[in-house]
Amino acid sequence: MAISEEALKILKATSWFASSSDELLQALASKLKFVDAEDGHIFIEEGTIIDKFMILESGQLVRTKLHILDEESGAKGRRASFRSSLRNMKRAEVSASIKRNAVEVDTIEGHGRVTGLLHNIKDGSTAFATVTSKGSAKVWVMHKTDFRDILASKPEFMFDLLGAMATELRTGSKSLRTLMTNLKTGGKSDGTDAKDTLRVLCYDTTSWVSEAFKPAVEAFNKSHDDFQMIIDYTSERLGPQTATYAAGYEAVCTFVNDTADADTMQTLSRLGVSMIAQRAAGFDRIDTKAARAYGMTVARVPAYSPYAVAEHGIALLMAVNRKTSKASNRVKMANFTLDAGLMGMDIHGKTVGVMGTGKIGQILCNIILGFGAKLICYDVFQSEAVKKAGGTYMSQGEVFAQSDILFLMMPLLPATKHTINESMLPKLKKGVILINTSRGGLIDTKALLKGLHSGIISGVGMDVYENEQAYFFQDWSAKNIQDPDLLALLGEPGVVLTAHQAFFTKEAVNKITSTTIENLEAFKMGKHRLEHPNNCIPKDD
Ligand code: NAD
Repeated sequence: MAISEEALKILKATSWFASSSDELLQALASKLKFVDAEDGHIFIEEGTIIDKFMILESGQLVRTKLHILDEESGAKGRRASFRSSLRNMKRAEVSASIKRNAVEVDTIEGHGRVTGLLHNIKDGSTAFATVTSKGSAKVWVMHKTDFRDILASKPEFMFDLLGAMATELRTGSKSLRTLMTNLKTGGKSDGTDAKDTLRVLCYDTTSWVSEAFKPAVEAFNKSHDDFQMIIDYTSERLGPQTATYAAGYEAVCTFVNDTADADTMQTLSRLGVSMIAQRAAGFDRIDTKAARAYGMTVARVPAYSPYAVAEHGIALLMAVNRKTSKASNRVKMANFTLDAGLMGMDIHGKTVGVMGTGKIGQILCNIILGFGAKLICYDVFQSEAVKKAGGTYMSQGEVFAQSDILFLMMPLLPATKHTINESMLPKLKKGVILINTSRGGLIDTKALLKGLHSGIISGVGMDVYENEQAYFFQDWSAKNIQDPDLLALLGEPGVVLTAHQAFFTKEAVNKITSTTIENLEAFKMGKHRLEHPNNCIPKDD
C-alpha cells in the first residue's frame, strides 16, 4: 500500500511519534485514515468501548459529558437517544444540542494533538466523554485493531511506544487537569463564579434512590452557604469498567452490588476521587485495604433501621413456615381447600438459633423470645443484653445441631464465607428452616440445593443470594436468566426469595439518605480516612 506523505507528516508532528523509528512511522502511516469532519461529527461516544485514537491536523475537537444520567430513561437509554437525536438533526443544530444535553469538558486543538491513544492499549476501556468535531476539522484516525496489530508485529515497536510515552508523561498533557477543573467548577475553567462544591457521582441509581436523595440534597443546599453538594446519578454499577465515569467528581456514592476492588480504586484515585460514600451498612464489595493504600475515605451508614432487617427475617420465616405465598396464590385462584402442603408449625416452643448477635441479631432475638421460643446464639463476641433477655450462647456446632430454625445474621467475611457448605449439612438438625437476610456469600448455593433435596433443610428464606449482583435490582421478567443455581432456587417449592429488600422501609431509606449526606458533608469538612465518624477502613490489617 502506498504510504501517504501527509500521514507521515502528521505522525511526525505529534509528541507521541515524532522520534519513532521510520519503520514504525511507515507502519502507522499505512493504516491512518483521513477524515474531513464536518461540525458535530462524532468520533467517540461516551460510555462506549474506545476503538480508535485521533490525531488532529487542523480545527478543534470537543469533549462533552452528559451531566444528568437520568434514572428515568436510564443512562444507556439517554445516551442512545442523545446519539440518535444528533444524527437526525441538521448540522447547524448539532452543537446547540450538545450544549443543551452535555457539559463541555475540554477542547482539543493544535496541529498534531493526539487523543485517546492510551485507551487503545488497554482492553475494553470505555469513553468517559463524547468526542465530536467543533466546526469543521481535519482529523487522522487510527483504529484500535490496526494499531494493536502493528504493535504486535514487532517487539521493537513497543519500545518505541514506551519511549514516546515517557516523553509525553514528562511534558504532561493538560487535558485531564482541565477536565477536572471544569467539572469541579461547574464548567468554569478559570474557577471564577463557581461556588465551592462537592461533586458526587451516585452509582447504581434506581428510582427510590433519586426520589430520596434529590429533595434531601436540595434541602441541604438551601440550608448551607459554605458549600453546595451536587449529586449526579447513573444507573451503571461501579466497577473497573465504569470507574472512569467518575472523572471530575470528588466522591462516589455506592450501594451493595457496586464493586470497589483494587483496580477500581486505582482508577478512582487517579481521577481524583477520594471518597466512597456507601449507602448501606455492609461493605463486603469494597476492598478496604486498597482504599487505605490509595488514601481513600470510605464511610458507610452503620445503622439505618435494624428493625427493618430483623422484621423482614421474621416475614421470610413465616412465609416459609406457613406457606403464605402459595396459600395466597391458591385462594386468588378460588381454591379454598387445605392440604398437607400448606401445613406449618408453631414457632412457640421451638429452638431458634441466631448466628451473629449484632445490631440486627439482637432485635431479632427479642422478637424470637416474644414467640415463646428457646433462643440459642453463636457470636465471636457475646452480648450481655442477649443473655439477660434469655438467650444462651453455645458453640457454632451446638447451634447447628439444635436449631429448628437457624438465622444467619453475621457479616460476610473471609471467616464466614460459605458458613453453610456441604460438609456442614450433616451437622444441621434434620428439617431445619434456614433464614439469611445478611449476605448471599454466607451460603454455598449448591450445598443448599443438596440440603433441600435431601430433606436436611426443609425450607429457606433468603433476601440475599451469593451471585445476586448480575440480577438483583433489575427487571429480568422478559429475559432469560443464565445462572443455573438461581434458576434452581426459583424452581424450589421450599424457597422464599426476596431481592435484597430487607432494609427497604420508609424509616430506613430516610436514615440511609440523611446519614449518607452527613457522611459526604463530614468528608467535605475535612474528616478524612480514619477520622471520618463512619469510617469503615480498619486501622491496620
Ligand atoms: P453488626 O456489625 O452490628 O453485627 C454483626 C455481628 O456478627 C457482630 O456481633 C459480630 O461480632 C458478629 N460476627 C462477626 N463474625 C462472626 C462469626 N464468624 N460468627 C458469628 N458472628 C460473627 O451488623 P448488623 O447491623 O447486625 O448487620 C448484620 C449484617 O446484615 C450486615 O453485615 C449486612 O451484611 C446485613 N444487612 C443486610 C441488609 C439487607 O437489606 N438484606 C440490610 C442491612 C444489613
